[in-house]
Amino acid sequence: MLTSSNPGITASPIETYLKELHARHASLHTGRVADYIPELAKADPNLFGICIATRDGHVYEVGDSRAPFTIQSISKALTYGLALEDRGEEFMLSRIGVEPSGDAFNAISLKPDSGAPFNPMINAGAIAACGQILATGNRSRIARILEYLSSCAGRALDIDAAVYRSESDTGHRNRAIGWMLRNFGIIDEEPTAILETYFQQCAIRVSCRDLAIIGATLANDGRNPLTREQAIAPECVDNVLSVMASSGMYDFSGEWLYRVGLPAKSGVGGGILAVLPGQLGIGVFSPPLDQQGNSARGIRVCADLSRELSLHLFAGGAAPQPTVRLWYDASQVSSRRRRSNHHQQTLRGSGHRIRLVELQGELVFSSFEPVVRLALKQAPYCQYLILNLRNVASVDRVTLRLIAQLRSGLAEQGVVLLICYASRLADKLRRQGIDAAALFADDDAALEHCEDRLLRDLLGPGWDDAQEVGLRDAVLLAGLDADDLAWLDAAMPAVEVAAGDFLIRAGDDSDRLYLLLKGSVMVRLPSATGGTGKRINVFHPGMCFGEMGFLDGSARSADVVAMTAVAARVIDRGLFDRLKGERPRTTIRLLEGLSRQLSANLRRSNAEAAAFKG
Ligand code: GLU
Repeated sequence: MLTSSNPGITASPIETYLKELHARHASLHTGRVADYIPELAKADPNLFGICIATRDGHVYEVGDSRAPFTIQSISKALTYGLALEDRGEEFMLSRIGVEPSGDAFNAISLKPDSGAPFNPMINAGAIAACGQILATGNRSRIARILEYLSSCAGRALDIDAAVYRSESDTGHRNRAIGWMLRNFGIIDEEPTAILETYFQQCAIRVSCRDLAIIGATLANDGRNPLTREQAIAPECVDNVLSVMASSGMYDFSGEWLYRVGLPAKSGVGGGILAVLPGQLGIGVFSPPLDQQGNSARGIRVCADLSRELSLHLFAGGAAPQPTVRLWYDASQVSSRRRRSNHHQQTLRGSGHRIRLVELQGELVFSSFEPVVRLALKQAPYCQYLILNLRNVASVDRVTLRLIAQLRSGLAEQGVVLLICYASRLADKLRRQGIDAAALFADDDAALEHCEDRLLRDLLGPGWDDAQEVGLRDAVLLAGLDADDLAWLDAAMPAVEVAAGDFLIRAGDDSDRLYLLLKGSVMVRLPSATGGTGKRINVFHPGMCFGEMGFLDGSARSADVVAMTAVAARVIDRGLFDRLKGERPRTTIRLLEGLSRQLSANLRRSNAEAAAFKG
């Protein structure tokens, strides 16, 4: 059975591949189902499932991917993680080593000097780890283990009572290991109860789908990609993966790392859990085991998967993706705030002092290091540097620290580093000493802020042009003589609105052209979701708006909202027709003004398009 998450849609090549992989190995009949725990001998040797879960929670499954079986040794990796969370790394290292042992999983061997088990993946180490888990908050150890594994799998798991009973009735060798651990002071209490917990832990029922999701949780810094729950403390994830990599596959661990190259853990129930850190989890289930106690089909499936999908951790050394998507400066791209001609010219001449770097992908040391170099190279030539994180998928803690250090280093050279699209990182950045004033919702807001500061630096404190102007200062009317102005002054209706009022609504008829004389207005796209739409322009006194619809007669495409108290004059279609009839020369001047404005807009769009092409 192949379960497609998109029924009725063209088969994914990945699903087709997994189906083919499953068929390739289904005919393999080597290995024997484990029978030293009597109940396990009842497993159907033909059951066979393969599952891959991605870090972002997509699940591919083929075959008996939902057939239940007991997790057995695979639980050891996870309970080690839980014990680490409870007791901390140093304590755990003092009780349980992390060296591959080369002994059988159930060997009664402990380090000769300390009596510590070699690692948490052999029974001795796993029983010792189980004994370190705390029974907290009125919950028994097994309740906590079950809860922990359930949150890793993203569903409530249970215990196979028959398998538990069967192992408890026969697990005398493990009891002997428990007493040895007690003898050496590796566990601090009588082993009897710990052993029962351990047997129950091994009898937790999972499917290979669960294993893949647990793997994806490990690949995703301990956060279950389906439920979004932080199942495993992120700081324990690398410890768990490390012991899986060095000792997870019994006596085959070395060859497994060599051939497959993924941290993994198998169990005598026939399951294998493998993880490609940061990327995906794999679960395979097939009960017949090979000589080393690993699922015979499972080993081959994983070897093929690793080779055919190039998943080996050490293959190719995964070069970091280029992180700098685009960079440009404010002489090429300006904020949506409309500026007077003088300000526009000033910014065109000095805008190179504001540089923007658009980053993408995952920011880790090796992908962010070139950004540090680029920023330092730019520093002598700029005053403001804006990091745009809109297309950044994740930022690790090393990079957060580097951003903070880069910011203070640049500040010493007089360069201000600002960050936009960082709201999800605001707390983390603040902890690194980057205050909220350096963070902007989007690149436009950051750019406008830098432009304002640059204009103030260059033109002095009185630079701001948001004061009231008279008709003669309206850009559109430049070139009209006193007589024309007087005629228009008498003919143009005046409009006054308060902050927050709409002057134009999207969808309205476009029958008016506005000359803004006092206050500021913004042009805002109507929001599809009902919230506040995207701001695309801000106009100040002296500018005109509404010209596009006025000229081509199409309905308004955006809202225009007053940001302050606003005074404007209006040329409506009736007035325009009168003007055409009575004062053709004035009309031509007016149309020349409109053409100038439209070509200035087009120029600006062209410059932006050129900058965005890189
Ligand atoms: N419960 C099993 C035991 O301790 C687990 C063994 C395994 O899966 O390797 O014998």
